[in-house]
Amino acid sequence: MDEQVERETMEFDVVIVGAGPAGLAAAIRLKQLAAEKGKEVSVVVLEKGSEVGAHILSGAVIDPIALDKLIPDWREQDSPLDTPVTEDRFYYLSKAGGIGLPTFTMPPLMSNHGCYIGSLGSLCRWLGEQAEALGVEVYPGISVTPTIEGDNGEIKGVITGDMGVGRDGKPTENYTPGIALTGKYTLIAEGARGSLSKALIRKLGLDADSGPQKFGIGLKELWEVPAEKHKPGFVQHTMGWPLDDRTGGGSFLYHFGDNLVAVGFVVHLDYDNPYLHPFKEFQRAKTHPRIREHLEGGKRISYGARALTEGGWQAIPRLVFPGGALMGCSAGFMNVPRIKGSHNAMLSGMLAAEAAFDAIQAGRAHDVLDAYPAALQSSSIATELKKVRNVKPLWSRFGTRLGVMLGGIDMWLNTIFPFLGHTLKHLKPDFASMRKKDTVEPIQYDKPDGVLTFDILSSVFISGTNHKEDQPVHLLLTDPSIPIEKNLPEYAEPAQRYCPAMVYEVVEEGDRLRFQINAQNCVHCKTCDVKDPAQNITWVPPEGGDGPNYVNM
Ligand SMILES: Cc1cc2nc3c(=O)[nH]c(=O)nc-3n(C[C@H](O)[C@H](O)[C@H](O)COP(=O)(O)OP(=O)(O)OC[C@H]3O[C@@H](n4cnc5c(N)ncnc54)[C@H](O)[C@@H]3O)c2cc1C
Ligand code: SF4
Repeated sequence: MDEQVERETMEFDVVIVGAGPAGLAAAIRLKQLAAEKGKEVSVVVLEKGSEVGAHILSGAVIDPIALDKLIPDWREQDSPLDTPVTEDRFYYLSKAGGIGLPTFTMPPLMSNHGCYIGSLGSLCRWLGEQAEALGVEVYPGISVTPTIEGDNGEIKGVITGDMGVGRDGKPTENYTPGIALTGKYTLIAEGARGSLSKALIRKLGLDADSGPQKFGIGLKELWEVPAEKHKPGFVQHTMGWPLDDRTGGGSFLYHFGDNLVAVGFVVHLDYDNPYLHPFKEFQRAKTHPRIREHLEGGKRISYGARALTEGGWQAIPRLVFPGGALMGCSAGFMNVPRIKGSHNAMLSGMLAAEAAFDAIQAGRAHDVLDAYPAALQSSSIATELKKVRNVKPLWSRFGTRLGVMLGGIDMWLNTIFPFLGHTLKHLKPDFASMRKKDTVEPIQYDKPDGVLTFDILSSVFISGTNHKEDQPVHLLLTDPSIPIEKNLPEYAEPAQRYCPAMVYEVVEEGDRLRFQINAQNCVHCKTCDVKDPAQNITWVPPEGGDGPNYVNM
């Protein structure tokens, strides 16, 4: 349908996809440079959430290194990041107990002191306001679908999603065609497993020289706790129980703001047991005394989930292509052992912006911004990610207990002897690690109690997730027969469990089974796109403004 449609076109110098920390930092930096040099540069940021921050889900303990560079007086302004870290704990849990790891055993880069706890969504709302004040055009509620290609394959901009297309793919009476937004450079900042980023990486072979990207699923709840239990600045991370030694992941728990506690759980998506249910592992984790004690007497006020990148330095694809660049977690600058990526997302956005600004000033357009990857190589992003590059491969090879020990030693070695060259590869993409159902034990989970532990549907309800019913399903099956004919007999169709929003169900219809997709529940975490063992599911953006409506996440 779209090729034949007449589209309105808007021209900009720079088009940015995604109003997360990477996209907004790039937009702000472009306008700062223009003001410093007395030049004009037009910048637009497109965001699929109903407002900036609505689709942002993070921990978050934030390293201020990027904010200090971008907005040096952010502490004096009314920024929402106002809880400095005061106490930093790490436990390896057993079922009822666990051992604490003293912070002096960890390399200095693992320390959270000097960082701030807050909501990354609220920080993005604030950054969005800063960007608009500088003259950036920020448009939420806009899903970006394809890129616009020039005659030589260069990227010349993007097309926003058509609105008012019916379930059957045909225009309804509310049909409004998407707009073409052209730019001299198009900067992609969609976060982990972005749909445009995935398509560009595949089409342009941007990952030809890097290892496979690795991912985790992060689930999070926001709790309001009694004032007497609130310890602003308290940070706790755990590994171990309830996951077995072969399954990587762990919990995080942060006290911040007005009696708020962010509690969450990450499961590395290279887990191998198809019966594993990340949402239920999270619920189980909360029953551990080390976590439960912080939540008892409190009330859960929000829920959400989002994939995160875990591949680190050796999984970063080529960052530039004619006409554009990948920034933030679209490329994968997350530091996994620190569970921190927002500072590197912002720093990468600033570096891409500086390269784009210089190119535009030199009269260039639609070519390769080589200055960006060059600057990245000598940036703090590279220094930081190189130090931890072997940690995730060690966890994957040796399991949690031994892997954490070896990872710690490797981080110390790379901190003291930064010239050490050994880099361990990621052995396979996450979907390839699933074992056949007959070779593993099913996992039994307790029923939720509705006080500390919950079911998925009541959780999705408080994520504010909403999708217009009359639109094409945004979870595409390459081969619709695979879920029932292949995934079910081989893997007990794991989509029923790894999806944190119960989008996928196998339902009985008379004497046959049907794979049902409840697309309206989708919280846009992208886990299915990563973990389906047959790589049969493609997540594409639904209509702009649909999806979760996270507040303070
Ligand atoms: C559970 C969890 C805990 C974490 N904890 C921490 C922490 O404590 N500290 C820390 O520093 N980092 C943490 N991270 C990582 C951090 O959140 C990411 O590194 C960071 O959000 C990446 O920023 P980004 O701008 O690249 O992408 P994102 O923050 O994901 O933002 C991307 C934006 O682009 C939009 N978008 C995507 N595709 C499209 C499209 N096609 N059209 C229009 N809009 C689009 C999205 O809606 C979103 O708003 C955590 C992540 C998770 C999941
Ligand atoms: S359908 Fe996919 S992207 Fe949506 S919530 Fe489920 S796993 Fe996440």
